[in-house]
Amino acid sequence: MWRPTKYGEEDFAAFKEAMEASSVEAVAIHAVYLINCASKDRDLRMKSQASLAHALRIGDAIGAAGVVLHPGAQKGEPLGPSMKRAGKTIAAALEDSDHCPLLLEQTAGHKGLLGRDFDQTAELIELAGSGKRLGLCLDSCHMFVQGYDITDQEHLTKVIDEADEKVGIDRLGCIHVNDAAAPLGSHLDRHANIGKGEMGRKGLAAFLSEPRFEGLPATLETPGPEKKGSSKKEVTEARKLRREGLKRRQA
Ligand SMILES: [Zn+2]
Repeated sequence: MWRPTKYGEEDFAAFKEAMEASSVEAVAIHAVYLINCASKDRDLRMKSQASLAHALRIGDAIGAAGVVLHPGAQKGEPLGPSMKRAGKTIAAALEDSDHCPLLLEQTAGHKGLLGRDFDQTAELIELAGSGKRLGLCLDSCHMFVQGYDITDQEHLTKVIDEADEKVGIDRLGCIHVNDAAAPLGSHLDRHANIGKGEMGRKGLAAFLSEPRFEGLPATLETPGPEKKGSSKKEVTEARKLRREGLKRRQA
């Protein structure tokens, strides 16, 4: 829904207090899915810009690690102008907020979704002004279906080297941890539960133990065992896989 949230100072203070009392170390906001910063429809673009700026200001207020954004979709329009529109809309939303990072999530790349590889993400960052607040969010499922083999240390290292070369690893602000229900390179955005998809336990163990992800916030977006969203058990499982991966690297 487009209707913006109406949080005030009291809510922000209560949120901060709850965060401090919990074991949660970081929070990231996901921008509304209706947003399409690349839309040719000016009205939709303006709504997207306002919604994004609103999310960034909430992020400013609660000290979020970032607002994660799907950069936009072509919807049958040519790539070049769509990229330019997305860059401009993102830049305007940044201008209209203070310091919260904006993390461009690389997408599965289906049906004209922008941000389908490191070249496109790098170009979007440039089109949005290359500011320090512009960052990257990597989703294991999206990367896998984009065609990046990230299921063993050797391939993963090369992929993250490419991310560093094209986007800059210092821009990486968070990761999304999901198994993939569709094959490598399929461009199908279907998340699977941890260890139950095409990447499998071993593949996710390799992904989770990447040294350049150290200290980054990570979010699970799996369907969950009861299709009600990621479970606590899956979080524990992901932590266990990370330890397994680290052990394998040291062997
Ligand atoms: Zn994601």
